[in-house]
Amino acid sequence: MQYREVDATREFLLRLETGADWRTEIEEFADLEDIDAAWFQAMGAVQDAEVWFYDQDDTEYQSVRFDEPLEVAACVGNVADLGGERFAHTHAVLSRPSGQSLAGHLNAATVFAGEVYLRAFEEPLTRDHDETTDLDLWL
Ligand code: ZN
Repeated sequence: MQYREVDATREFLLRLETGADWRTEIEEFADLEDIDAAWFQAMGAVQDAEVWFYDQDDTEYQSVRFDEPLEVAACVGNVADLGGERFAHTHAVLSRPSGQSLAGHLNAATVFAGEVYLRAFEEPLTRDHDETTDLDLWL
């Protein structure tokens, strides 16, 4: 385990733009406000979604795309530096009209409506390649 103490410096509420990409909206906001590290929660609805699942044996992401309106029942993520750019690592639980849920690593989704609470930290957070998992993890 690695850990660090962080100072939460600023808090924001965001309303995401209809038709924009869910994750890109959060990354563009972080660029705009010069936020290098943050944690966020969100909810809303999307018009489609591309969800990834990390295959721990193959150490590769598998992608699945849903071209249908979905509720964002819950979304959680964080912002960190990845290769010199701000990356919003985003996970979501999405639901269909029946209430059935889909979930995973949210790579992309077209916003229908989105509400985000974001807490920014003073200390920067950086990701780098981890040999053991083949993932880009926090340093
Ligand atoms: Zn993930």
